[in-house]
Amino acid sequence: MLELEKAIKISLDLTKKLDSQTIDITNAAGRYISSNLISKVDLPGFDNSAMDGYAIISSDLKQATESNPITLNCIGLAPAGTMPDKKIKDGMCMRIFTGSPIPEGANAVIMQEDCVYNNNYKTIITSNSIKPWKNIRIKGEDIRKGDNLISKGEQINAGAIALLNATGHKTAKVGRQPRVGLIATGSELIDPPNKINPGEIYESNRTMLASMIIKANGLPKIYPIVKDDLNKTINALRSALSENDLVITTGGVSVGDHDHIKPALEQMSGTIVFWKISMKPGKPFMLGHANGKTLFALPGNPGSALTTFLLLVRPALLKLQGATCVHLIKRTGVLADEIINNGNRRHFVRVKLDEHSHATIAGKQRSHMLGSLPSSNGLIDIPPNSRLANGDKVEVLMIPS
Ligand code: AMP
Ligand code: MG
Repeated sequence: MLELEKAIKISLDLTKKLDSQTIDITNAAGRYISSNLISKVDLPGFDNSAMDGYAIISSDLKQATESNPITLNCIGLAPAGTMPDKKIKDGMCMRIFTGSPIPEGANAVIMQEDCVYNNNYKTIITSNSIKPWKNIRIKGEDIRKGDNLISKGEQINAGAIALLNATGHKTAKVGRQPRVGLIATGSELIDPPNKINPGEIYESNRTMLASMIIKANGLPKIYPIVKDDLNKTINALRSALSENDLVITTGGVSVGDHDHIKPALEQMSGTIVFWKISMKPGKPFMLGHANGKTLFALPGNPGSALTTFLLLVRPALLKLQGATCVHLIKRTGVLADEIINNGNRRHFVRVKLDEHSHATIAGKQRSHMLGSLPSSNGLIDIPPNSRLANGDKVEVLMIPS
């Protein structure tokens, strides 16, 4: 049985980035940038005021105190969006506002709250002295022309959207979203809400996986349930592999007589890259490829499908888009339960990490059980034959929500 890290490495080595596309930044949240974006401008683009107040020369107010207020002549007004048309000389000031360009000659802005203005803004009186460059946002102090705005492989978030727009960008080159075919195999599976006969169950993996694929920017395509039949499995794999960038199946990949995924891939002259990983849940996992496309065959139990998707498939989905960080985010928590793993495989236990960083076991953990899935927001990796005690510091792999 393969170690998980080895399995992840093999799968990522096989995964090559898809092509890129240029999209409007408005719709770019969550996508991965395909090449470094360099600023063509300084930010701020010009010296401007951080306050509503008066542009002044700081040396004019050097002697200003409560007992020695200073009067300055106000020579005009410059609202944001206009260029001041006069130069400030000794004894002068100009009425300006947040974002207004600083008039030539001025080297500080005094807040309007620190001034008394007289004669319809003709003069101001202040008792406050002020240091040079106070309340001035200096050209280029945030971003310099030529600075890197966002690096290849980084994810675009709301802040990046703002920065790109603020530097005049309208579009960005990002990795294409992978099309992902989703197949559920199992003769017992029925689409809800159809009537189920004795021995049948409702199918629930495809929609669970689809929602996690969407979270990872993929474009899921749900295929009809495939009965446990070799030819039907081959046909379903053929169409899904031809219509998508990668395919995920669930079920039918274990050692049972009715497990047809491996034989189907073999009959299609595909390659089985590996099968079975030393982990719980998720042991009967297979990575294969056929017709130049990758097939991730996940175990059918919902708990196993969830864990293997998050640890093995999601990284590949992100790499297809050119992401540099592909693994689940880790957070440190304090265990509020005891967890014992008596087995010889590492166990990924579903937990709920709360806002106080307390990690509690989410509920029953057996791989066929769904009851604890809604309250799980993380996984803890418990090594074989080990015990974690209440109060232990733990690393929680966060499930994207
Ligand atoms: P398998 O991996 O095909 O051996 O299935 C393992 C277990 O998971 C069986 O109890 C199946 O009934 C169940 N199972 C398989 N596929 C699904 C599915 N898509 N939705 C819900 N349960 C499933
Ligand atoms: Mg089955």
